[in-house]
Amino acid sequence: MLIKVRKLERVYRMGDHVVRALAGVDLDIEAGEFISIVGASGSGKSTFMHLLGCLDRATGGSYDLNGRNVRAMTDRELARIRNNDIGFVFQTFNLINRTPAIDNVAVPLFYGRQANTNAKAMKALERVGLAKRYKHKPSEMSGGERQRVAIARAIVNNPSVILADEPTGNLDTRTGEQILDIFHSLHQSGVTIVMVTHEMSVAAQAQRLVHMTDGLIDVDREVTPELRRDLVHSGVLGAKRIEREQEEIERTSA
Ligand code: ADP
Ligand code: MG
Repeated sequence: MLIKVRKLERVYRMGDHVVRALAGVDLDIEAGEFISIVGASGSGKSTFMHLLGCLDRATGGSYDLNGRNVRAMTDRELARIRNNDIGFVFQTFNLINRTPAIDNVAVPLFYGRQANTNAKAMKALERVGLAKRYKHKPSEMSGGERQRVAIARAIVNNPSVILADEPTGNLDTRTGEQILDIFHSLHQSGVTIVMVTHEMSVAAQAQRLVHMTDGLIDVDREVTPELRRDLVHSGVLGAKRIEREQEEIERTSA
């Protein structure tokens, strides 16, 4: 098992106020899976991704990554895991804007004190189709290109898992599709992907769909061709509504 999460909890305390952003989540993820996580705004998706990405610490429960107990790790160990085992892709790209793409991609290699950083960064840029633009700064690039640089940075250390929190949220539909194509090709080459999105047509492209409500997972199912079709037609509820309208039209015209 790549990821094993049990009763995972994240409570935020603000004065007297307590928010249970993650209320005891159980989840298993096998190496090679492509999972999408959906749910209303505030349902705890980002909180969960930050915990999986070792960007934040849980307040309860357990989290094993590659058989290692993440909750018992020191800050130093967590930094190592973040650098070597996890590639995080953010909605807002989080690049260094005035630094060439290749140097942005090489950042995790510098932290890892690795040799041949340029060659490795170029290879990652090739995988996202941006090798030709390696000298360009993010400030000179389109949103889609920036996100591709961010994905190259996320994969440069060959991590066990890519965690993407609304990776197409700041992009138009067509550009978003290009980003999805990259995730598909990474997935085909064996990379594990966990992606948060609020667009059902994007979520439908994964193999497995997880839905969160109030800090808990309430749906966890395989994306079958039927479910995929329903989701692509403006979400499950949307598809049901269209069906009802169709029946209504047929009834009144009969
Ligand atoms: P989502 O990504 O699904 O929109 P979040 O994980 O961002 O949801 O938030 C879940 C809940 O936790 C929300 O009620 C949010 O207001 C709260 N929350 C998130 N981050 C913090 C924080 N740093 N401090 C306090 N409350 C937070
Ligand atoms: Mg969020």
